[in-house]
Amino acid sequence: MKAIRRFTVRTVLPEPLRPLGGLAQNLRWSWHQETRELFQSVDPEGWRAAQGDPVRLLGTVGKDRLAALAGDRRFLRRLTTAAEDLADYTSSPRWYQEQTDLPAAIAYFSPEFGITFALPQYSGGLGILAGDHLKAASDLGVPLIGVGLLYRHGYFRQTLSREGWQQEQYPVLDPNSLPVTPLREADGSPARISLVLPGGRALHARIWKAQVGRVPLLLLDSDVEGNQAAERDVTDRLYGGGSEHRLLQEMLLGIGGVRAVRAYCRITGHPEPEVFHTNEGHAGFLGLERIRELSLDGLDFEAALEAVRAGTVFTTHTPVPAGIDRFDRELVARHLGDGGELSGVDTGRILELGMETHRGGDPNLFNMAVMGLRLAQRANGVSTLHGAVSREMFAGLWPGFDPEDVPITSITNGVHAPTWVAPEVLRLGARQIGAQPAEDALMIGGADRWEAIGGIPDTAVWELRRELREQLVEDVRVRLRASWRQRGAGEAELGWTDHVLDPDILTIGFARRVPSYKRLTLMLRDQDRLMDLLLHPERPIQIVVAGKAHPADDGGKRLVQELVRFTDDPRVRHRIVFLPDYDMRMARVLYPGCDVWLNNPLRPLEACGTSGMKAALNGCLNLSVLDGWWDEWFDGDNGWAIPTADGITDEDRRDELEAAALYNLLENQVAPRFYDHGSRGLPQRWIEMVRHTLATLGPKVLAGRMVRDYVTQLYAPAARSHRAIQGPAATELAEWKQRVRRQWPQVSVDHVETDSVEGTPELGSTLTLRTQISLGGLDPADVDVQLLSGRVDAADRLASPTIQSLKPTGRPDISGRHSYEGPLTLDRTGSFGYTVRVLPAHPLLATPAELGLVATPPEATGMTAGVLR
Ligand SMILES: *Cc1c(COP(=O)(O)O)cnc(C)c1O
Repeated sequence: MKAIRRFTVRTVLPEPLRPLGGLAQNLRWSWHQETRELFQSVDPEGWRAAQGDPVRLLGTVGKDRLAALAGDRRFLRRLTTAAEDLADYTSSPRWYQEQTDLPAAIAYFSPEFGITFALPQYSGGLGILAGDHLKAASDLGVPLIGVGLLYRHGYFRQTLSREGWQQEQYPVLDPNSLPVTPLREADGSPARISLVLPGGRALHARIWKAQVGRVPLLLLDSDVEGNQAAERDVTDRLYGGGSEHRLLQEMLLGIGGVRAVRAYCRITGHPEPEVFHTNEGHAGFLGLERIRELSLDGLDFEAALEAVRAGTVFTTHTPVPAGIDRFDRELVARHLGDGGELSGVDTGRILELGMETHRGGDPNLFNMAVMGLRLAQRANGVSTLHGAVSREMFAGLWPGFDPEDVPITSITNGVHAPTWVAPEVLRLGARQIGAQPAEDALMIGGADRWEAIGGIPDTAVWELRRELREQLVEDVRVRLRASWRQRGAGEAELGWTDHVLDPDILTIGFARRVPSYKRLTLMLRDQDRLMDLLLHPERPIQIVVAGKAHPADDGGKRLVQELVRFTDDPRVRHRIVFLPDYDMRMARVLYPGCDVWLNNPLRPLEACGTSGMKAALNGCLNLSVLDGWWDEWFDGDNGWAIPTADGITDEDRRDELEAAALYNLLENQVAPRFYDHGSRGLPQRWIEMVRHTLATLGPKVLAGRMVRDYVTQLYAPAARSHRAIQGPAATELAEWKQRVRRQWPQVSVDHVETDSVEGTPELGSTLTLRTQISLGGLDPADVDVQLLSGRVDAADRLASPTIQSLKPTGRPDISGRHSYEGPLTLDRTGSFGYTVRVLPAHPLLATPAELGLVATPPEATGMTAGVLR
């Protein structure tokens, strides 16, 4: 198969139609309805055949049609307007240009990007999030460069066997028929990068560029001349192959990705990134490559590490340890060490960066998330709850610190509204608040604009909901019929598919990848009960389910099969369907068409979840376990929370309890509210919830909000650190850290005392606290001595204590001990406690926990807690 070289002949457009080429190559069409409508009018029939993909469309339009359009003045006027609009969008100042002191550029690395179905380089949430990040960055004018791989097969297409077993297909994607162009050197030759592999082999890759609005996305492709067959296959498919294959992909992404960025900036004059953001650990090698670059400039390993950390942001996406890439140390050493790609860099230190030093860690494995955290001065999880779970999960890397103090913050994910809001919803919003405010509200947020949604009349909301539901029902029927044909059914057997689902019945959606924690089949726990809900004589529900199991996950495939078998049952098949091949195109019809979006993961294993956000933006209500984003933003009126049996470790028992809770909610709350039609024939309380969802969740769930948070909370501080920690400053910081680490065993809190109090002290009284600290060879300027005080919780720990820095008093005593003191105000009744701790302090640290070093009083001092009554 590989011997076949394919050619795609690109249509040569007549001169007046040339701008169509530019409009097709810039993926902004994927979130810009007017541009899509323009393409549709090029050839409505061809548009349908090309399934809404402009590049494919232009490859198929006939000469005659093109000639006619080239002379059609009305069409040419529209074309000019669209081209000018795109030029304006890509060049005019936007939100970012109004801010100051921001990075000149940011490189954003991800193993997958879900931008449009027409560039199928994603498997699920991580990729869609990366795509939405780029699009929102484009809308806001953030100078981002995306970096990823171009997979020859992308992720697989899913079909079903007659028995309901998942089948995978891997269609070959020809880059020449994708919306990408080769990056070329000034002399016109294709830009390439290379990596050295063990045994004198080399891995070459060319660089494709997809243009996502204002944002370039560089995609590396190893299927090139000059590579051996094995190396050609490095970018064969997303998340396939064994460990070494995975390692090579990640080397190409991280190391090759930095080289691709350098090539891009050199060729185009784009400013060099000051910040490198790695979306999950897969791209973590980018930090090692930058260390190598800096070593060439003469920095030693430790100084280069400081300089690289300063400008690196790491986002962790999984609370599931199995979701983290871990490689055999030996394999990593062979590929990066002597004779390998980074032979100039200290292999021992590289291996230490990925070493699992926490309790329960395996010293023989190289952990990409652990390395990601060590190579980044700033790190975050993707929802408030996931931030807390991540601090807990990685606390072992900061020994001595409570999980709350672990330096991993959180920025809650968002979704790109112009991509995910159905045109019908957008039109209604535009009618209510005006076209431009509606567009701004979608891209940037602004709670006041979203509040105006509250004024949309009941009838308009309800008609919209029905229209969207009806579109979904039609789409489901077409897809279901196609699936059954594919499963081997004859046309004559399929009459029933014309009557599947009903546009007036409460519609519930459930679609996501099928790892076990997402519990695809929880709804099947009590099949009789589910059947009763589906077939209820007055208040029936109908359910649309979709999802792909990982090709290597037979357990997941069994779940899919179990579900498909249930939906095949003639008693219920008109009320519950499984649609194969969940992808972005299906998603865009599915979310708006559902009334309720169901999510029942095993809490707290869903890091954020974004499909519910996309549903909410279309007026669909969430019915979900309080996990990820829903834990943060469920407010009692914007949907329903499925109670969880958190403490129960018997998973079967837990599933049973949570499934029962789900059925109860559906039966007693969700369905009755949907069918509770008041005097005007409308379910007013339901409609109220829809409006409330749009008005209050709307501005929060936006990718625009998320990207602004990244810019202000992570990118801007990282750029400042990057500028401050270069060259000699990096060397100085590295040496300071080494000195502090060496001396730290000598740092101790030797004595803590307060004024003596008679009896029970009074609320509000202030005592003087004194403490004596040994600093070994360190200076008071190297540390921060802190007094922590506040309420003591049930676990005998200070809960969110007040923290103040103490001042040194006088000179050290004969044995070198330093005295510190400060006021201790007894500002809380009940169990009040205080303690003292010493932390390293340096103006270039991002957080005081950065070194993982802390000194606290030995517990034996017994003077850290007092009780106020
Ligand atoms: C949004 C989306 C996802 C991710 O949804 P989660 O809720 O995070 O599981 C996966 N696949 C597609 C096609 C999507 O559009």
